[in-house]
Amino acid sequence: MNISQAERRRVDVVVVGSGLAGLLAAITARENGASVALVAQGEIGRSANSWLASGGLAAVTGIDPDDSPEHHLEDIRRTARGLVFEDIARIFVDEAGPAIRKLETLGVRFHARDGDLALFPAPGHSLARSVRCEGGGAVGLMTTLIDVASERDVQLIGNTTAVEVLKSAEGRAAGILCRSGDAWQIVEAASVVLACGGMGKLFPVTSNHELADGSGYYLALKAGAVLTDLEFVQFTPTSLAWPLEVRGTSTGGGLMAQPGVKLLNANGERFMSRYDPERMEASTRDVLARAIFREVSEGRGTEHGGVHVDMSEADRDAVAQVSGRFLRAIDAMGIDPYSERVEVAPDVHFAMGGVVADVDGRTGVPGLFAAGEITAGLHGATRLNSNGLSEAAVFGIRAGRAAATESAAAQTWSCDFDSRHRVVHAMIAEDPRHIDGQHRTGVIRIGPVASGVGEAGGNVPALKSELREILMDGAGIERRTETITRALTRHAALRDQIDTVLASATPTEAFSLDGMYVLSGLILQASRLRTESRGAHFRADYPAQDPTWDRHIAFVCEPATAGDTQFEEAAQ
Ligand SMILES: Cc1cc2nc3c(=O)[nH]c(=O)nc-3n(C[C@H](O)[C@H](O)[C@H](O)COP(=O)(O)OP(=O)(O)OC[C@H]3O[C@@H](n4cnc5c(N)ncnc54)[C@H](O)[C@@H]3O)c2cc1C
Repeated sequence: MNISQAERRRVDVVVVGSGLAGLLAAITARENGASVALVAQGEIGRSANSWLASGGLAAVTGIDPDDSPEHHLEDIRRTARGLVFEDIARIFVDEAGPAIRKLETLGVRFHARDGDLALFPAPGHSLARSVRCEGGGAVGLMTTLIDVASERDVQLIGNTTAVEVLKSAEGRAAGILCRSGDAWQIVEAASVVLACGGMGKLFPVTSNHELADGSGYYLALKAGAVLTDLEFVQFTPTSLAWPLEVRGTSTGGGLMAQPGVKLLNANGERFMSRYDPERMEASTRDVLARAIFREVSEGRGTEHGGVHVDMSEADRDAVAQVSGRFLRAIDAMGIDPYSERVEVAPDVHFAMGGVVADVDGRTGVPGLFAAGEITAGLHGATRLNSNGLSEAAVFGIRAGRAAATESAAAQTWSCDFDSRHRVVHAMIAEDPRHIDGQHRTGVIRIGPVASGVGEAGGNVPALKSELREILMDGAGIERRTETITRALTRHAALRDQIDTVLASATPTEAFSLDGMYVLSGLILQASRLRTESRGAHFRADYPAQDPTWDRHIAFVCEPATAGDTQFEEAAQ
């Protein structure tokens, strides 16, 4: 890897990610006296799930005297199904309200009522405690924060991909190596904050941003951080499966409950009569998602892996009220949903698992912090509506503050590019923040850092598509031993092909492809190991929740040793 020509800069804190967590981490680190650079793939802010969000943030704001942090905590515990990190959830419910107030002081505008914030109900919450950004989405929130970051001299570096966390000889995070176009960049920093968001693009259909391929998890894993709860992936049932340009756009949760809206499989059957004859399309999200998944996996799916929505008998006014974004998307494609059938499929919406961190985002690797969707712990087995943006706000602020404080101890940068193969080990832990002495099994190999030195992309897009299909097959909505094993076998068989392509791909492509390969393998492994159903993880062969599984599956990456040669077999 030739990085001798790399442009270098040095700051106290470098933040990777320009979503809500990253922007707030950067702004808060500046407020605490640090010099800050913020690096993001794509355009600053726009390349983030935060930009696409509907704009609801759950918090106890003190407006409703009947609400309290305890109530919010209870709601989280109920949906997390025993896997919440209590200290993180406690801090979250206490600080979500103050985080909203901080956003207001930064200039973010929320819907108001009677001179204060208006509160809206959100599914799963026992009380109305969601505030909503003005403008019907989170774009206003994001543009305000980008302006604030810019005014406060955060160095905003867009269209740049972080491909490696650099470490000092002592093992402390010391900056990041990035690729911007054809050039390398090194940002040296005493503290590194990963605020890289989710991993929806590991799956074929997702509401996530085009760049949400989970590369942040891969960065963290390679740097030595622990990942956990990766099997918990939240699906929503009906997003556009086609046309490609609007794939992943949700129909809106309320559409299926509208009279006259029907779901049909490729044979034209109204298949919900087999799954929920009483409620039909108005069934719950999990039943709908599983029904569609089963229709597709049993060969009754449409051309692009979904089912049809027939709205020919629907009430147009009622549909317009619940599905504005969906209608605009298909209108832009020249489709009339009232005369043509539209293909929909379940989409991946949110990753509950991720990087293990403490309440200040410390990952266990000195100097390396994580905040926002990339982290695990708050949501356990399922995320509660509107808690994603609040999570990014609370822990973005905390990580930014801690990163600035710790950067005060100046570091000397040095980095040894590790050309050894490494192995990711799986373990089952009561508490993934204390994994010393846990029994470990090697499950997947990671290639040398110096992958991706060529210029040609090879068949990277085709391999990525195949990985997505494999992951959906094994770790889709309904999982079972047989399909997971089949997916793992197909996944292992791709290793050599991926290695060949990595050698000739551009560094950014190589990083993205390798990361997708590793992460999809880990999600499959976690889905295989958890022999129960809980929250978003549904095993058809183990349909009940099992109290012996009140534990976490964790992964950590270490240099390969002679004893790791059998890991491929262990993966089967
Ligand atoms: C369609 C949709 C609607 C939603 N609506 C809501 C809602 O109303 N309320 C709610 O609470 N939650 C909602 N969510 C979830 C919520 O949007 C996320 O939980 C939240 O935005 C995550 O913020 P974040 O800052 O952690 O990550 P993101 O906003 O996704 O930001 C991640 C950033 O990291 C960058 N990045 C990643 N990897 C790299 C790399 N290797 N190098 C450089 N940069 C990198 C990305 O480009 C991006 O800038 C929604 C999600 C979606 C997809």
